[in-house]
Amino acid sequence: MSIELNEYEWAEKMIGNRDLGKKPVETLSRVARYYYENSYGKRDIRRRLDAFLLQCDPNASLVHWSDTLDRIVRGVGRYKLVRMKEVAVHEPELRRIETLEGKQLRRLAFTLLCVARYWDNVSEANNHWVNTQDKEIMKLANIATSIKRQSAMMGQLRKLGFIRFSKKIDNLNVRVLFMEDGPDAIHIQDFRNLGYQYLKYCGEPYFECVSCGITEKIREPNRGRPPKYCPACAAQMRTRQNVNAVMRRRQVSEEVMR
Ligand SMILES: [Zn+2]
Repeated sequence: MSIELNEYEWAEKMIGNRDLGKKPVETLSRVARYYYENSYGKRDIRRRLDAFLLQCDPNASLVHWSDTLDRIVRGVGRYKLVRMKEVAVHEPELRRIETLEGKQLRRLAFTLLCVARYWDNVSEANNHWVNTQDKEIMKLANIATSIKRQSAMMGQLRKLGFIRFSKKIDNLNVRVLFMEDGPDAIHIQDFRNLGYQYLKYCGEPYFECVSCGITEKIREPNRGRPPKYCPACAAQMRTRQNVNAVMRRRQVSEEVMR
């Protein structure tokens, strides 16, 4: 499962937008749990999944999806939808991170901490494990580098006592060892671009999109005001504006014709 602070609201939004997202099985599973938490019975949920799937993709084959949807509905009561407002990073933890050499390594430690605390908040039994693939961690940390360098950084964090590894059967899990209580320093309210959020906290030129809340780099920091929208939202706005402009022109010309 990818990390979402409020799976309930997320599922509601996907239903409203008729959107399967990038990971359809994950979306369908959250949508099913959303209906479950709204007291729908399993048979009803199963029907609603069919309907949702077809709303998102009218060409989807219900036969092809049938087994997957059955499986999702069978397990629907197993996990509750996560509903978290934020994840806090504490001051002593940030100070520990600052002792690390190099921005990339700090970003990685920060990200591992945020992810481990997220899972700790989901379940008390988690005990600081990260439970998330390295690939996903690097993406969250905004680190694009070779696998070799990635493992070297993980190894370094281990050597310095920041993390420890556990070899599970088929993947490597990491446990964060530098969690410490103290005053909150940062509240993470969006689990995308955690690396950028750390750099923003360090005073580097990053901004939060006013529409979707993602943190992005300010491309031209010397050009006065930072942008309001991230590239994705800005593109969406431009498309909407173009559509509106076309509609307006059409309306005007129809009025002239009359
Ligand atoms: Zn945005």
